[in-house]
Amino acid sequence: MNNKAFYLETFGCQMNVVDSERIVDLLDGIGLHQVEEPDQASLILLNTCAVRDKAVRKAYGHLGRFKPLKDRNPALILGMGGCIAQQEGKQLLEEFSYLDLVFGTHNVHRLPELVQQVADNRVRCDETEFLDRETRLQLFPSRTGKDAFTSFVTVMQGCDNFCSYCVVPYVRGREISRSSGEILDEVRELAEHGVREVTLIGQNVNSYGTKEKEISFSALLEQVNAIDGIDRIRFTTSHPKDLSDDLIDCFGRLDKLCKHLHLPVQSGSDNILKAMNRGYSRERYLSIVSRLHQACPDIRLSSDIIVGFPGETEDDFTETLSLLEMVRYTEIYSFIYSPRSGTTAADMKDEFTAEVKQERFNRMLDLQHEISRHTWEADVGGVQEVLVEGESKMGEGQLFGRSTWNRIVNFSGSPELVGRLVSVKITKSFRNSLLGELSEGH
Ligand code: SAH
Ligand code: SF4
Repeated sequence: MNNKAFYLETFGCQMNVVDSERIVDLLDGIGLHQVEEPDQASLILLNTCAVRDKAVRKAYGHLGRFKPLKDRNPALILGMGGCIAQQEGKQLLEEFSYLDLVFGTHNVHRLPELVQQVADNRVRCDETEFLDRETRLQLFPSRTGKDAFTSFVTVMQGCDNFCSYCVVPYVRGREISRSSGEILDEVRELAEHGVREVTLIGQNVNSYGTKEKEISFSALLEQVNAIDGIDRIRFTTSHPKDLSDDLIDCFGRLDKLCKHLHLPVQSGSDNILKAMNRGYSRERYLSIVSRLHQACPDIRLSSDIIVGFPGETEDDFTETLSLLEMVRYTEIYSFIYSPRSGTTAADMKDEFTAEVKQERFNRMLDLQHEISRHTWEADVGGVQEVLVEGESKMGEGQLFGRSTWNRIVNFSGSPELVGRLVSVKITKSFRNSLLGELSEGH
């Protein structure tokens, strides 16, 4: 390699963010440092997402942009990892003559060796084997929390749910949970390095440990709650079918657990929930929401919604709109259904046009925008506890942090407040953030 620099682009979810951080650490271990500009690098890596066609097209588009760099500098190594790499494997090398390396979701740990192989022998290589459980258990990504006040902690990986639209179980493999001892050690180490907030992550954290006969997820939360130095706990993603009463009670019981839950519903119609193989009904979902409010009256929820699932009629869609009005999420992440080959929904009859789906999607965004606006505007005048994460891009003397509801709050203050919990009086609400001022006592 003609210099010791690599450039990395990450697409998709938190699992990919964690994998990318691991890639940075692993490459650092063989003396490669990360750069911000692809033309300064001798290794370019894309960590990709295959959940929707849009993400796939974006990754291919970015790959294409690097071709001229490779034409100018044939020694440049181009690699693709993540879910597209897992799904397509060797075919990617056949399709893209300028791609050198393909590594799957279970092979991130082998990256240094693979990069070395390509560099030393000028061979192209691909590694997308799924690993067995025992090996995977040894390889959970861990973090040290250097230079950060918030950190993800991986508690489980993979998914066994097979929602009919979703490619994740195929590209990430079967569900596997990390030992609670290892998770707790990691959280303690993070706390020692100054981390104040941890987010426990996995495709479905609510089913944590069931296969491994580990402690329950609520028991795990309780133990994380007892760790000195940690002020806040979040977790994601939660599948509604696995949200136990015990876990619901945690929101009333555990003082460090943030009062926000991302609880993807996907649709408000029973017909569609059934076709999606989600394992709960609208009524059951709504009863979970009401129990959450009983356990913690000021909890706020966010959700994922898919519009235009095969067979979704106007009536089904109206059910989703009415559910949004009932639950009043602070935020939704909404997607137009995207067929994924290999999933069962890919073979379902889909009678509505792209225009109909787009029109429904826009209607839903308008409704949600109004709901979100009301919630955040009602916060103006109140005081919120904010974990200060850093200096804001808004200018000198400006800080930013998050409220318990995961909303960005900007305010002026001195940099020594970074990493601390402060009280902020909210003065204004914007589309994506709140503005405030330090409240008395700070
Ligand atoms: N494990 C998480 C996240 C899965 S992927 C969960 O179960 O919530 C993130 C989101 O992408 C999903 O919640 C779903 O809303 C969306 N998604 C997944 N597959 C999709 C597809 N084929 N088309 C459109 N959206 C999809
Ligand atoms: Fe995909 Fe469903 Fe698993 Fe989430 S729970 S990753 S949507 S299969």
